[in-house]
Amino acid sequence: MKTIGLIGGMSWESTSLYYSAINQGVKQTLGGLHSAKICLYSVDFHEIEQLQHQGKWQETAKILAKAAQAVEAGGAELLLICTNTMHKVAAEVQAAVNIPLVHIADATAVQLLEDGITKVGLLGTAFTMQQDFYKGRLTRSFGIEVITPNVEQQQKVHEIIYQELCLGQINTQSKQYYVDVIQSLYDQGAQAVILGCTEIALLVQHTDTPVTLYDTTAIHAQSAVTAALHKD
Ligand code: GLU
Repeated sequence: MKTIGLIGGMSWESTSLYYSAINQGVKQTLGGLHSAKICLYSVDFHEIEQLQHQGKWQETAKILAKAAQAVEAGGAELLLICTNTMHKVAAEVQAAVNIPLVHIADATAVQLLEDGITKVGLLGTAFTMQQDFYKGRLTRSFGIEVITPNVEQQQKVHEIIYQELCLGQINTQSKQYYVDVIQSLYDQGAQAVILGCTEIALLVQHTDTPVTLYDTTAIHAQSAVTAALHKD
């Protein structure tokens, strides 16, 4: 079994989901007392969040590149950035290490295509919903059409992530809001909706909506398990 490197803390609320899902995945496959070999570097999210909102992405890239080097030095053989948004600097992080980065959008796209989904709704931070690093990758590399909420919805979805979910606050009104936005994406032709922020699964579950959801945290964690257990 390979050692999985995690860059977490963005937020730690979702990193704990990764930790649990990866260990569950290994246990399910290997059984008994088996658990995942993980090397985790958890950053201070306050610092990252300030830099994101100031547009200082190169500063965030430096922090994550150092974290990646630390987990590589700690024995990690593959690497995950445990947030969709910070994949904005995935190329810089990958360039800093010799171990492969498992890209969250690629893992999700593979799953979507396996299920025959080529037109999908996307929920996430405003950075993820508006910028090209995520949507563009889904479209250019995988031919998946992406629908995002309207500007007003995007703003509220973004605020709920930073002001509630990253603080571990689960609010019933916010859950209903997300369910309504998911429905509106479906009504515009999305065959399914990507929960493209690693905290959203804390708020919305499959049972809350008839629309098919793709939880990036669960998908990313499972692809790490598959890669770690794959015999070269
Ligand atoms: N975890 C979130 C994501 O998947 C948002 C926090 C962040 O900005 O990294 O995008």
